[in-house]
Amino acid sequence: MIAQVVFNLPVDRAFDYLVPEAWRTTLQPGMRVEAPFGPRRLIGTVVRLRASSPIRQLKTLARVLDPSPALTPERLRLAEWLAGYYCCSLGQACASLLPAALRLRPVVEDPAAPAEEIAEEMPELTGEQRRAFGRLSAAMHAGRHRTFLLHGVTGSGKTELYLRAIALAREQGRSAVVLVPEIALTPQAIDRFRERFGSEVMLWHSRLTARQRAVAWQALAGGRRHLVIGTRSAVFAPVPRLGVVILDEEHDPSYKQDQAPRYHAREVAIARARQAAAVVILGSATPSVESYYQARRGRFELLELTRRVEGRKLPDVEVIDMRQEFAHRHRVGPFSQRLAAALRRVVDLREQAILLLNRRGFARVAQCPTCGNVVRCPQCAVPLIYHAGAQQMVCHYCNVRQAVPEMCPACRRGYLRLRGAGTERIESELHRLFPASGIARMDTDTTRPRDSHRRLYDAIKTQQIDLLVGTQMVAKGLDIPQVTLVGVVSADTALNLPDFRAGERTFDLLTQVAGRAGRGARPGQVLIQTYCPTHYAIRAASRHDYEAFYQAEIRMRRRLALPPFVHLIELTVQGFRQDRVQDAAEFLARALKARREGGRITLLGPAPHRVVRLRRSYRWCVVLKGPSVPAMTRLVRQVLRKGWGVRGLPVIVDVDPL
Ligand code: ADP
Ligand code: ZN
Repeated sequence: MIAQVVFNLPVDRAFDYLVPEAWRTTLQPGMRVEAPFGPRRLIGTVVRLRASSPIRQLKTLARVLDPSPALTPERLRLAEWLAGYYCCSLGQACASLLPAALRLRPVVEDPAAPAEEIAEEMPELTGEQRRAFGRLSAAMHAGRHRTFLLHGVTGSGKTELYLRAIALAREQGRSAVVLVPEIALTPQAIDRFRERFGSEVMLWHSRLTARQRAVAWQALAGGRRHLVIGTRSAVFAPVPRLGVVILDEEHDPSYKQDQAPRYHAREVAIARARQAAAVVILGSATPSVESYYQARRGRFELLELTRRVEGRKLPDVEVIDMRQEFAHRHRVGPFSQRLAAALRRVVDLREQAILLLNRRGFARVAQCPTCGNVVRCPQCAVPLIYHAGAQQMVCHYCNVRQAVPEMCPACRRGYLRLRGAGTERIESELHRLFPASGIARMDTDTTRPRDSHRRLYDAIKTQQIDLLVGTQMVAKGLDIPQVTLVGVVSADTALNLPDFRAGERTFDLLTQVAGRAGRGARPGQVLIQTYCPTHYAIRAASRHDYEAFYQAEIRMRRRLALPPFVHLIELTVQGFRQDRVQDAAEFLARALKARREGGRITLLGPAPHRVVRLRRSYRWCVVLKGPSVPAMTRLVRQVLRKGWGVRGLPVIVDVDPL
């Protein structure tokens, strides 16, 4: 008996091993095994059993790790789909369906079965909610796969619909998976799920310890828990009899995995739900252009909630033209006169304000006024960011840290000048302007410790903090009734990124952060500072007008033949020598061109990556553009062969890159 085994390696094939006599009756596909691989032993997954192999002198399996398959046939099929669509090895795909701890040792511990009954009573649905739920429940009763796009402004009652859909799935004896962009940023949402479903709820996210993760895995796989809430990898949670998968904030870029397999949780959710005849609910106030387009075409079913529950109003949004402020010397540090006055009013009335600036650190650039030199990362060549708290210059790509040089390290004559404010700088401005107020900062630098989100949130809730400044983190999840002012220090940070989705990201971020204002009885006000007040994304966001944004955006995408009208595959060649990387990228582009059949696949590049140097290695990209992913991945597989490289250098394949 021969077992075909795949490993978590970028090698696109299975390896044959002899199965020892003792396991011939028990070994099954989907079980994990330990096998000799070169000088090492590796853990892999059995994908097939066979009677014979064309290869002579086979090695023998060393150990079987599972008493029953860790990957059921259904999950193996999902792994095959994943490897096929995202162009990774089957071994990499299998590995992403199994939590790391489970890969090391079997765990038998199990949390006690949930005891309590569901207590909380449900509010009566609004008219809009009732209509939407009618269509969800019809699909769920029919037991057919269907994907819904739930487009609803913030506070329109989307979460209430998720809760109803889950309750219905539970009545049908089926399980539910809820995906959120970041667990730590949604403590309130988690509380609501716990209120409704008690200890039935299992959390699944990157801050779980390996052991907690393994325990959760077994409780779900064993059918003792039926509801999991987690970040993108929870889409693989091993729940049997899946009834509904919910992606909240479906437009969020964190749903895209950044290592092989570079999957998008939305696509995996749909593939999985199709297999299980389950329903998918994609929820957002600002759906991704891709999803909204699919809803318009009828591939997804569109559900709309246009009004906030209980008639609460959306906040007034005012766009402040910073060109005028600049011309008239009105600014108070980084704030326009208008924003400074609004902050003053909030402080006087003892209300609360949130300020968004999507850049951490104190200053963006440290430049020498004498010779013009900018202090850069020695490994990545991007400008280092000055962090005042740590008194260091930090690379935001590789996290290299250096002392702050007093004199320019290049000419040794000029004193470095700091330009371009970050969150730290705003925080210090606030302290200067409002010395008596409670001020806090929320970004990845201040929220590293476990529970720091929860603690910040509690401090805001209890009004120990009056003014909160932060990166995009402050745009997510905070539901604080006393927040009456939201100020966007600069709307242009995302707008000027070299990314065709820059407009979409800006619209999303502005809409989301605006939704933090006026959630209580007092009306909210939003002030957006920008040097591009006429940009369609900023104008549409200021009017809460998704449709206007979408129409402008989809016209641009159609004209330039960008997603959703085509798919992209980005191939990145990496290596330590710039000339070899460039050569390999050119070779790759020529090879792809030569094998491309017909004119349906376009090739862009090769070109240096946006950050051409990262941690000392150089990166060049080639982008394929075409209507069909399978046609393009076929081409990529032909050119890269089984080793996923060209000219001895590794190539990263990213299907539908963000
Ligand atoms: P969203 O997820 O769209 O932001 P939520 O579901 O959180 O909206 O609803 C916003 C607020 O309104 C919440 O406090 C929620 O408890 C409440 N709510 C939702 N639906 C109803 C309803 N039908 N009746 C009364 N209150 C509701
Ligand atoms: Zn660096």
